Amino acid sequence: MDKDVTPPVKSSQPTCPECGKGDPLRIVYGYPMVDMFEAEQRGELLLGGCMIEPDSPTWACRDCHHTWGGPPSRIDGLAAIVRGGSG
Ligand SMILES: [Zn+2]
Repeated sequence: MDKDVTPPVKSSQPTCPECGKGDPLRIVYGYPMVDMFEAEQRGELLLGGCMIEPDSPTWACRDCHHTWGGPPSRIDGLAAIVRGGSG
């Protein structure tokens, strides 16, 4: 009964195009708040800095550190990531 147990997916996240690993880190741009630094320390996201380039990636693989996706959208707070927005 314990086989094929899949944890609930909070939001639709891509898998790494390089190694196929799921659950990538979301790269967050914009001026980071204190809670965002703490979230980075917990490994929940990756701070990408204040500047957003047109080809800046949105996702970073935890496994092979490949980055992809984008263009990213500016995040004005951690809540936007946790809640996932309304679409
Ligand atoms: Zn990867």
